[in-house]
Amino acid sequence: MTNFDPSHAYAKILDAQDELAELRQEFIIPEPELIYLDGNSLGRLPHRTAERLQEVVSEEWGQGLIRGWNANWFEAPNRVGEKIALLVGAAPGQVIVSDTTSINLFKLVMAALRARPGRQQIISDVLNFPSDLYILQGCMELLEKKHRLDLLPSEDGINPDLCALEEMIGPDTALVTLSHVVFKSGYLYDAQVITELAHRAGALVLWDLSHSAGAVPVELDAWNADLAVGCTYKYLNGGPGSPAYLYVRKELQDTLQLPVWGWWAQHSPFDFDLVFTPAQGMNRFLVSSPPVLSMLAMESSVEVLLKVGMARLRRKSVSQTEYLIALSDHYLAPLGFTLGSPRSSVQRGSHVSLRHTEGYRINRALIEAMNLIPDFRAPDNLRLGIAPIYTRYTEIWEAVQRIRRVVEEKIYERYSTKRLAVT
Ligand SMILES: *Cc1c(COP(=O)(O)O)cnc(C)c1O
Repeated sequence: MTNFDPSHAYAKILDAQDELAELRQEFIIPEPELIYLDGNSLGRLPHRTAERLQEVVSEEWGQGLIRGWNANWFEAPNRVGEKIALLVGAAPGQVIVSDTTSINLFKLVMAALRARPGRQQIISDVLNFPSDLYILQGCMELLEKKHRLDLLPSEDGINPDLCALEEMIGPDTALVTLSHVVFKSGYLYDAQVITELAHRAGALVLWDLSHSAGAVPVELDAWNADLAVGCTYKYLNGGPGSPAYLYVRKELQDTLQLPVWGWWAQHSPFDFDLVFTPAQGMNRFLVSSPPVLSMLAMESSVEVLLKVGMARLRRKSVSQTEYLIALSDHYLAPLGFTLGSPRSSVQRGSHVSLRHTEGYRINRALIEAMNLIPDFRAPDNLRLGIAPIYTRYTEIWEAVQRIRRVVEEKIYERYSTKRLAVT
């Protein structure tokens, strides 16, 4: 970053120049001293979402009762899907809210593999979120072990080996499925290039956007993507366990066969036909009654992001992650931290991992003694999530000082190396 200066005064100047600074007021921030750098795992709660949830509970459910379905709920998976579509570069009729990310991945992987009969190879990478890899393994088991899973290697645990992809991919490739932004290092794939490579081999592509949507620009239509899934409780601030979404390119929708046939995917569920006939379009990708409370809360949170637009959010995110890396080089590198993320912002999402042999205990000490919440990803990544919509530059500066103190004053030594259930 140009003009970088490690002083607190400089952080204040950056906040003063921040054209998105006011957006922080959209969020409930009860403890201003608490620095929250974990919006990449669970986003903060917007005021309007808290109010909306209250309204849905007391009015739409409490008073409206079953009438809520016709009034507002039945169409919500499509309606909320269209709002998310605006954040992921999808024309109408291609995104729907349903289930969880892992379940959606299962549905689409099974459908994709069936759409490429005879092809036996699935490609992903060793940096992918384990749940995604587990789902793939489970699908292979269900399909009688006819497929093999080839994972792109990564020498440094930060960047995938893209040359390996060109060597691996070929006429036997059924599906390439990757996380657009990698959960540990924050590596950001060039989705357009990968998609084209896969299409040249006749394979389908499925992107997991969990760490991308709301954090980096996503252009599913422009990439010519086939399929995508993503979660809404990270940068979309949907709330714990809020429902996920999925994208299916228009031309594929009526050709794919889903592995779970539920009544919400039936062409007219309230005819109560005894035989399943799938709906046209995106409704075919639903299964069951949606979790209305969390879906409507999430809708309200997504609207906050729509007010800003991804281009401006990305600009601030890049500026803030660059600032964090510069501060880390200055204050933390001498204490044994190394960068666990790509240095170039072109290849980086909106979080920065700092590696340290004592990463786990440092994370515990930061949360319990320093009023700073990052998270830890084994073996040694202290992961600092920047949610540009509410993160301040002075918070980033202060976070780096707190990390420095935990190491310099050996505060982390008070904590056990024994892992908690959720890190
Ligand atoms: C967060 C995340 C998920 C979440 O999966 P759930 O099914 O919601 O628990 C899946 N994949 C990736 C890449 C993620 O980052």
